[in-house]
Amino acid sequence: AKRLGDGRPQFFQQAQEDELEERLTLERELRHAIDHDELRLYLQAQVNEAGNTIGAEALVRWQHPERGMISPGHFIPLAEQTGLILPLGDWVLKEGCRLLGEWRQDPRLQHVKLSLNVSVRQFQQPDFADQVMTVVAAYGAPPERLTLELTESLLLSDPEGTINKMKTLRHLGVSFALDDFGTGYSSLAYLKLLPLDTLKIDIAFVRDLTLDMQAKPIAATIIALAESLGLGIIAEGVETDDQRLVLVNLGCHLFQGFLFDRPAPALDFVKALSADHVA
Ligand code: C2E
Ligand code: CA
Ligand code: CA
Ligand code: CA
Repeated sequence: AKRLGDGRPQFFQQAQEDELEERLTLERELRHAIDHDELRLYLQAQVNEAGNTIGAEALVRWQHPERGMISPGHFIPLAEQTGLILPLGDWVLKEGCRLLGEWRQDPRLQHVKLSLNVSVRQFQQPDFADQVMTVVAAYGAPPERLTLELTESLLLSDPEGTINKMKTLRHLGVSFALDDFGTGYSSLAYLKLLPLDTLKIDIAFVRDLTLDMQAKPIAATIIALAESLGLGIIAEGVETDDQRLVLVNLGCHLFQGFLFDRPAPALDFVKALSADHVA
């Protein structure tokens, strides 16, 4: 291939240019999407051992006018890099609280909690706790039914600020779950300092639970750790009954995954709940 000054074949440079252009297009479109009602909150049930829905996790989707429904894996990383995660996270917070406010009127939903994913960048804004309090109040959302899912990378900088914000919000009744636990760099010392309510066992450990000799002791250790810290535990990505059984035997009694429910629009989630109610 013909070489440019930096010694790379030209088709590599072309590929890089295409990728950059694609990213810029996506960024422009995402900015537009946030302001023009193209985002959707899908909900996935969180269930207990009896199979009752005790909560839901909100998972954002992008209803693109031409490309169709886009998964967060395709735009959250870009949103993080460009700062669009801030307006996006704000939209998720408002939409989640709007739902919780609405659910207040519905007896079937009275005990269902809602978990929202919060990115590190969003959480690190100095006024994050105030933002949450304002939105909760504006939509009449019961704070004790709101859970915020954080990731371990929060601990890499400013643990003190993190702990202070968490304490402020917990005082209001908001709960905190540590997402994707076991995949990051948690120092156990910090983990002990964080005012958390729940650990979420990452899908990677659940997936391998019945396949890989290592996954089971890891899951067992996470569950024991949660117990010793007085935290609740929930497993994500539960797809088979075998996985569920292993988890129950290890002491995990709350689950989320395709075995129970697929992420779906809020209205479908509510309908499925009512169907369970009748059954
Ligand atoms: P996450 O928070 O770990 O969410 C769990 C992911 O696992 C979701 O993917 C969910 O659809 C998927 N999942 C649930 N059950 C199963 C299962 O049984 N098997 C398999 N294979 N997958 C399952 P999704 O919806 O594509 O979201 C991907 C990630 O995008 C999330 O991972 C989260 O990190 C991020 N994300 C989603 N919504 C938001 C949001 O509103 N804000 C932020 N900051 N991030 C979000
Ligand atoms: Ca999550
Ligand atoms: Ca997760
Ligand atoms: Ca995950």
